[in-house]
Amino acid sequence: MLQVEGLTKKFGGFTAVDAVSFSVPQGEILGLLGPNGSGKSTTFNCIAGMLKPTAGSVRLAGEEIAGLTADESCRRGIGRTFQIPRPFRGLSLLENAMLAAHFGAGGHIDKPEAERRARDALRLAQLPDDPQATAHGLGAAGLKKLELARALATQPKLLLADESLGGLDTGEMRQAAEMLKRIRDERGITIVWVEHIMGVLLSVVDRVVVLDHGAVIFKGTPAEAQDDPKVAEVYLGP
Ligand code: ADP
Ligand code: MG
Repeated sequence: MLQVEGLTKKFGGFTAVDAVSFSVPQGEILGLLGPNGSGKSTTFNCIAGMLKPTAGSVRLAGEEIAGLTADESCRRGIGRTFQIPRPFRGLSLLENAMLAAHFGAGGHIDKPEAERRARDALRLAQLPDDPQATAHGLGAAGLKKLELARALATQPKLLLADESLGGLDTGEMRQAAEMLKRIRDERGITIVWVEHIMGVLLSVVDRVVVLDHGAVIFKGTPAEAQDDPKVAEVYLGP
């Protein structure tokens, strides 16, 4: 579903992402891990069209998408969540999700279809789909769910989830992880999940890629990651 090859992003003379390669088969959940500043968000933004790569290739279902705009990559089937949720607070949850559905379809769907996609996405994210419910009063976990619902309403083939666990307590983290797993299990959506902590992520992802200083230092299963000395070193120090 996703093939990243030799992806490089430089900011001036500084190489934030350094020849990163990995691929994600259809229906897999990949955990993209690494300490703060290791290049996770930059990699993510190059895939989602928020940044133009300096070099390398990003293919979605075989089609080159590196350098497309964020709008185009959304229409091609990449849904993303933002680390900092930014809902339209004056709108209902349903309206928030409907706007996302319209955006994902490039405006080519009518209102009933947008509403159908929005309700489906809200239910999948375990949020109320009645027209009265608003983003007002949603806590950290609720806002993360709304981010997820908005991404799902675009009907993505590939879901990019950025730091979905930030600000959540342990129980909420487990719920968030189970929700991503259910989205994959029920809908077959391929997921790349970016997180700087390993914890609960390792219990649901199929494979892990670990970045350090912009480069891939590990690829393997969660069990292999837990036993790998290089991974332990970047997380725990030598
Ligand atoms: P992570 O998401 O893993 O914490 P980032 O991808 O945000 O890491 O950042 C990787 C490195 O690139 C960091 O050293 C960061 O300071 C740098 N960086 C990120 N964005 C920019 C930018 N727009 N301009 C210059 N440096 C940046
Ligand atoms: Mg980041």
